[in-house]
Amino acid sequence: MTIALIATDTKKELLAQFCMAYSRILGQHELVATGTTGKMVEEIAGLPVQRFLSGTHGGDQQIASRIACNEIDMLLFFRDPNNTSTNEVHELNLLRLCDVHNIPVGTNIATAEVLIHGLERGDLDWRDIVRAK
Ligand code: PGA
Repeated sequence: MTIALIATDTKKELLAQFCMAYSRILGQHELVATGTTGKMVEEIAGLPVQRFLSGTHGGDQQIASRIACNEIDMLLFFRDPNNTSTNEVHELNLLRLCDVHNIPVGTNIATAEVLIHGLERGDLDWRDIVRAK
């Protein structure tokens, strides 16, 4: 599975720690991320990450286009709920594309944990069939 990771500045540490905690499971999958998020996940969790551009340079849109092409199987997108971001349009577009393709998406650590356990259990194996079409 290909798992996309994006975290706003206030959530990057949390996402990287999360990836470290679940490195055994995540290490069996392909990780892609926006630039700075990916760098932190590589450094803190020790996992290989294909890094796109930083969010400010369009990395989130690079991930959005991969979602649009149905190439992403799960999105962990840790947003800052207290920051009414200027990127809100981009954020909503990412979430919309996940809905278009039925991509599991977690925007907080509680949902992310459920998704990771589901991933390990094989709950997302149907994605292999959908992607192959
Ligand atoms: P970054 O992008 O990981 O490059 O910081 C995400 C964001 O801009 O929120």
